[in-house]
Amino acid sequence: MKQYITMGDVYEAKKLVYDIVRKTPLYKAQDLSKKNKSQIYFKLEFLQDTRSFKVRGATNFARHLRSEELNNGLTTYSTGNHGRATAYVAKKLNTDAKICISKNVPKNKIAGIKNSYGKVVIHGNSQDEAQVKAVELSKTEKRAIVPPFDNKYIICGQATIGLEILEKIPKLDSILVPLSGGGLISGIAFVIKSIYPDCKVYGISMEKGAAMYESIKAGKPVRVGEHESLADSLQGGILFDNQYTYDMVKKYVDKIILVSEEEIKEAMSYVFKEEHFVLEGAAVVGIAALLSKKIKSIGGNSVIVTTGSNVGNNLFLNTLNIK
Ligand SMILES: *Cc1c(COP(=O)(O)O)cnc(C)c1O
Repeated sequence: MKQYITMGDVYEAKKLVYDIVRKTPLYKAQDLSKKNKSQIYFKLEFLQDTRSFKVRGATNFARHLRSEELNNGLTTYSTGNHGRATAYVAKKLNTDAKICISKNVPKNKIAGIKNSYGKVVIHGNSQDEAQVKAVELSKTEKRAIVPPFDNKYIICGQATIGLEILEKIPKLDSILVPLSGGGLISGIAFVIKSIYPDCKVYGISMEKGAAMYESIKAGKPVRVGEHESLADSLQGGILFDNQYTYDMVKKYVDKIILVSEEEIKEAMSYVFKEEHFVLEGAAVVGIAALLSKKIKSIGGNSVIVTTGSNVGNNLFLNTLNIK
């Protein structure tokens, strides 16, 4: 079988990302651990600058560009967090970024991109249409497109999360990872399984518009509709000509679990009340899978990757019905 990435690639990423990326803590989730009679840790990726793990992949990708390429600037198309990370990394590396997004991206995410020094280009009604615009900019302005997930450097950047977990936890039995395009889970699962082949890797998506789940079920990448979801960071397709993540998810992920909007809401509320963390919907799907008992037993040591906290204050307060 094709070797998609190697441990060497991941260690190279490790050398390149840490002047922009933070090492994030593993936080023992006391109540959830008691409930499940196991040791459960959250990997606090929402503590990254830009409030999501996406700076990892974007930094590793940009660091692999030649300096002439970097000088022309970056572009990408994104539901928000990847765009914001790309803008931030561009600024850190003394270049700039144009972020192409569809009209459906929430206002707080647009503000986030602008706060991270990105120029926002609004185009079309879907991710696909925003992508067309980014491709145009790559031609007219010679900007490098920073891919959101299906790229070796992106996957290896996200994989540094796996290395950090292995440094801290001696024996890992299961890991729960939010799943959209699959760059995050491919990188983490590759690293974890190479050391602990028996560790169970769960990918978790929302019920409606779970592109990777539907694609694997169909036996090839398929298009899914975009549905409104609290887990808006998990929306979008996996690309018809997917090169990496479709195969890597098939190879390294044990099971994909889908959670409902109600379960996501419950998990946002739970983690706020129990741990005082304000997390976006996409970040709590692993917690939702446990609370809803869709994942029944996770003995021993487990990690839940809590990926981001880019949720608007009003949406958060209204969703949880906080007055
Ligand atoms: C992008 C993102 C994910 C999913 O990552 P993929 O690599 O696309 O699977 C999960 N959570 C948050 C907060 C994200 O921004």
